[in-house]
Amino acid sequence: MAKVKCAWFDFTCCEGCQIEMTNFGAPFLQLLDHVEVVEFREVMKETTDGPIDVAFIEGSFSREADRARLESIRERSSLVVAFGSCATSGGINALKNHMDEAEYKEYVYGADSAMPHLDTQKARPISAAIKVDYEIKGCPMSRDEFIRVVTQLLHGTDKVYLPSYPVCVECKLRETVCRYDEQDHCMGPIAIAGCGAPCPAHGIPCEACRGMVADANQEAMTKVLKEKGGLSEQWAEKKSQMFTANFRSDA
Ligand code: SF4
Ligand code: SF4
Ligand code: SF4
Repeated sequence: MAKVKCAWFDFTCCEGCQIEMTNFGAPFLQLLDHVEVVEFREVMKETTDGPIDVAFIEGSFSREADRARLESIRERSSLVVAFGSCATSGGINALKNHMDEAEYKEYVYGADSAMPHLDTQKARPISAAIKVDYEIKGCPMSRDEFIRVVTQLLHGTDKVYLPSYPVCVECKLRETVCRYDEQDHCMGPIAIAGCGAPCPAHGIPCEACRGMVADANQEAMTKVLKEKGGLSEQWAEKKSQMFTANFRSDA
């Protein structure tokens, strides 16, 4: 059977999701039994202008100049999968959507901030520019979820399984001591599961990098972060905004 042609593309991001993929080790090498990698900037120099079975896109859409490249990828690809928080929600890039453009450009680029190639717009998910067939969330995305979704796609499914319950469920299933019992804070009660709750298991709070469940009670979460987690009012609110900046009404 012919291998499935897959290509990886990056837009505005730290490329941490692609790098994470190169750390997958054996599971990624096993994928190569079924997949032909035709473009993947982190691991090879070859590129492609030809047809692609599955395009994996990392990074947010934050420059109008990127629209033509995105449209070309869409036209050439049977399936488009956005992976990582930047690509699926705008991610932490969207924090700039709430700042003055001249101010953040000056902060990052200093005296060079007026150079034309640094022109930018609000950071949006890839779906703001082109049709996306599937999304794999997380900052970076979870190895196990990526492998699971790709395996389902290789088996020809038209509906991949993604959980809709909070991270606390997965945290309890692996019998992790709750961060709140360690005088810490945690966003797990309203964060979307699927990652396997690795952060609390390693003694650090969940930051809801995969976004929030559909019916998230952010008001109650902020109260818990303050009253049980010991955060100030300002920090409790900012915690809820880090990976959801693009969804705030003033974005
Ligand atoms: S989702 Fe996170 S790790 Fe992935 S590219 Fe964006 S900032 Fe980097
Ligand atoms: S550590 Fe976080 S994710 Fe785990 S049970 Fe407590 S609040 Fe939920
Ligand atoms: S535990 Fe929270 S912060 Fe950690 S990977 Fe899962 S959703 Fe992201």
